[in-house]
Amino acid sequence: MSSSSETSVVASSNRGVPSKCICGAGVRIFTSRTKENPGRPFFRCLTKRDPSSWTNKRDGHLFKWVEEAVYEEVEDALPKLGLMANEIVKTKSQVNQLTAALLELKEEALWSKVEIRKFRTLLKVCFVCVVCICVVSIGIAYLVIGKAQQMKFVLGY
Ligand SMILES: [Zn+2]
Repeated sequence: MSSSSETSVVASSNRGVPSKCICGAGVRIFTSRTKENPGRPFFRCLTKRDPSSWTNKRDGHLFKWVEEAVYEEVEDALPKLGLMANEIVKTKSQVNQLTAALLELKEEALWSKVEIRKFRTLLKVCFVCVVCICVVSIGIAYLVIGKAQQMKFVLGY
C-alpha cells in the first residue's frame, strides 16, 4: 500500500476528529517526540502503544495530526453553520409572523367581547321594551273591555 492511498483513505473516511482506527480499535492522542515534530500531538490507533511505531504512518493503522483533524472539523462545520444561520433567520421570520397573527387574533377576541357585551345590552333593552309593550297592551285591553262593558250597560245590552 502506497502512502498516497493511505492518505486518501484517511481523508475520505476519517475527516475531522477520528473516533476509530481502520482496524476497529479506538484512537488516542499521543505527543510526538521526534526531532521534526517535537511536542506535536497526534491521533493514533490504540493498538499502537509502542512509541517506536507512533509516527510510522505506513503500518495501515490510524495516524493523524491533531491540528489537521481540528482544521478538517472546522472546515466541515462552516457550511453547516451557514445553513444553521439561514434556518435561524427563517425561524425568526416565522416567529414574527406568528406573533403578528397572535396579536391580530387577540385584537379580534377583544372586539368580539365588546360586540357580545353590546349585544347583551341590546337584548336587555329589547326585553324591557317587550315587557313594557305587553303591560301597555294589557292596560289598553282592560280599558277597551271596561269601556265596552260600560257601553253595554248604557245601551242596555
Ligand atoms: Zn488500528
